[in-house]
Amino acid sequence: MDVFADAHPKLSPAQAVVEANRCTFCYDAPCMEACPTDIDVPGFIRGIATGNMAGAALKILEENIFGGACARVCPTEILCERACVWTEAPIAIGALQRVATDWQMARGMPFVRAAATGKRVAVVGAGPAGLSCAHGLARLGHEVVVYDNAAKPGGLNEYGIAAYKMADDFAAREVEFVLSIGGVRLELNAVTELDTLCAAYDAVFLGLGQAAVNALGVPGEDLPGVRHAVDFIAELRQSAPAGVAVPRRVVVIGGGNTAIDAATQAKLLGAEDVTILYRRGAEQMSATADEQEWAKRHGVAIKFFQAPVAVETVDGALYVVTGTQRFAADLVLKAVGQKFAGREGVAVEGGRIVVDASYATSRAGVFAGGDCVAGQDLTVRAVRDGKLAARAMHRFLEAM
Ligand SMILES: Cc1cc2nc3c(=O)[nH]c(=O)nc-3n(C[C@H](O)[C@H](O)[C@H](O)COP(=O)(O)OP(=O)(O)OC[C@H]3O[C@@H](n4cnc5c(N)ncnc54)[C@H](O)[C@@H]3O)c2cc1C
Ligand code: SF4
Repeated sequence: MDVFADAHPKLSPAQAVVEANRCTFCYDAPCMEACPTDIDVPGFIRGIATGNMAGAALKILEENIFGGACARVCPTEILCERACVWTEAPIAIGALQRVATDWQMARGMPFVRAAATGKRVAVVGAGPAGLSCAHGLARLGHEVVVYDNAAKPGGLNEYGIAAYKMADDFAAREVEFVLSIGGVRLELNAVTELDTLCAAYDAVFLGLGQAAVNALGVPGEDLPGVRHAVDFIAELRQSAPAGVAVPRRVVVIGGGNTAIDAATQAKLLGAEDVTILYRRGAEQMSATADEQEWAKRHGVAIKFFQAPVAVETVDGALYVVTGTQRFAADLVLKAVGQKFAGREGVAVEGGRIVVDASYATSRAGVFAGGDCVAGQDLTVRAVRDGKLAARAMHRFLEAM
């Protein structure tokens, strides 16, 4: 059995048509208002209902070129599906979006590049923000070079999102699809310097994500057996699942997506006893109620109001100590958030790059978006930022 099999297997064509026909195609559709990328949700659902799959896919991809990833990873329960007028049983918008985008990806890029403008743009970061921006710029006729210091493109789609949300090699296939617009060159394992990029290109987009991790800030957090959850997840994503050994008892510290994903994946890999320790209550957790439920369904225990004050070893055994209890662990995973790793040459506030409404940074010709700027750290937000930044950069390049 594949322990990381797709969490939400695909709807069959017949199921998709039945589901699409439940939609009442609301005027001023609230689901559309709730989508950060402004997808015409009733429009694409109508396409599926009437057998016009190409039209459905175009409506999605026009606004969100990572529509396939977002169909799989978006927390729809707090976005479009929460806004759906069918409150008791919302239309399965994410699942329908997946049907249409998978259909199109199997057939190739539906858009054609505009004539070459002669303008050259550097994008730093090949995550959803950077690649969405690169696609948008290339489609408008600009020549783009994307630099990433990782060995593979895709950002957290490749290295972070839980394997059961994005099964198989979907992340890599989608990058190939997005770049098939043409006009984009990828430079991996790349080290860049902003002054050099500014001198060599007409504009620069920074989609750097949050490459650094927060410290727990308690004694013992660097003991052997304690590691960052994002590193554990990245290792899983880059290995054959069966090849990753997990010990018997795993304690995960944190309350977000990363904590849920690390804990659930540890359980799926065979850990007997997996516990998430969170310092506040269920309502304060940044992981949604659905995500908490998902972890519990897989046998993960979630303990609330347990703030670690130390990690210690006693007679060779590892413990996480909170104000009230001691939790024995063979592996401790710290999932207390990531942060922007910093970048010289642009203004940074509160640990994120400062941008205006057009995604322009403090430095002329340099734009930024995604997790490295303030906002909700979600794939769909990064894609929206990249799309809107590409439009703003196009206006900037035209005015040059
Ligand atoms: C474990 C985990 C699970 C998540 N699960 C979900 C989920 O289920 N649903 C959801 O919507 N969101 C989820 N997220 C959040 C989502 O992955 C991010 O919001 C999204 O990937 C941000 O995109 P980005 O392009 O801004 O940054 P990233 O995806 O982080 O990409 C940034 C890229 O920049 C590169 N880079 C960084 N610094 C440099 C540099 N100096 N030079 C060159 N390249 C550089 C990195 O290598 C990386 O490829 C999750 C995040 C994590 C950590
Ligand atoms: S709110 Fe629900 S019923 Fe109305 S258009 Fe959106 S998906 Fe369809």
